[in-house]
Amino acid sequence: MPSFNPALRPSDAVGGHRYIHVIGATVFVDDRPGDPTWPRHFLGMLDDEAVWGVDVPHGDDPSYGAATDLYSYYGRASEVEWLVAGRAVQLIDWARTHRFCGRCGAATEAQPHERAMKCPSCGLLAFPRLAPAMITLVTKGAPGADQQALLARGVQFRGPMYSCLAGFVEPGESLEGAVEREVFEEVGLSVGNIQYRGSQPWPFPHSLMVGFRAEWTAGDIVCDPEEIVDAQWFTRDALPSIPPHISIARKLIDAWLVDA
Ligand SMILES: [Zn+2]
Repeated sequence: MPSFNPALRPSDAVGGHRYIHVIGATVFVDDRPGDPTWPRHFLGMLDDEAVWGVDVPHGDDPSYGAATDLYSYYGRASEVEWLVAGRAVQLIDWARTHRFCGRCGAATEAQPHERAMKCPSCGLLAFPRLAPAMITLVTKGAPGADQQALLARGVQFRGPMYSCLAGFVEPGESLEGAVEREVFEEVGLSVGNIQYRGSQPWPFPHSLMVGFRAEWTAGDIVCDPEEIVDAQWFTRDALPSIPPHISIARKLIDAWLVDA
């Protein structure tokens, strides 16, 4: 399994180069750099390989149609390669959308010693954008075969799939506070014993999913119709259709399945 080091500059021991061309929000990985005028961002070292994100201008396509979105890329690449491709998409999206200062409008400049865009006129710094979002699996009842988990179908889900509850963290809120608020807003339940269970970059386009388990403490399910079509308590032996392996939702559910 290769390891990734998100350095600011290539190390001295570069064994090769890998170019992740970002075409819109799709990626195409190649050992050739493409057009030398295209903006290039160093992403880090994948073992001894220097990895670059190449910002392909709108209208160009060095992949001739072979580029894939990050959903499709999952499973074709290793986990670490997928994470690095997500990093390329996120950093290039950030560079594309922070070319000018948000305060005074002057053109920004990439900083050599940190991952930041700086305004040469007023000094405003812009760092890569990350929107933390919490995702939680709520359980009810004592651990064991009879324990139930809450799974819900969001209004935006395409298929008949059920998943964990999720939502963005608001300014001034802790992650645990976001879990309590979102669960109450979406399904009307109170929860406690909120436990961190891992995180996952979610580059669609710039989230960081923070996963939790929580225990039901009070209330009956009342869905917010703006967000949730249906939510139910499920036992392990009667699960509905659940999300694919790419998602942390699935990892939270899979972990619950084996902990009876
Ligand atoms: Zn400025």
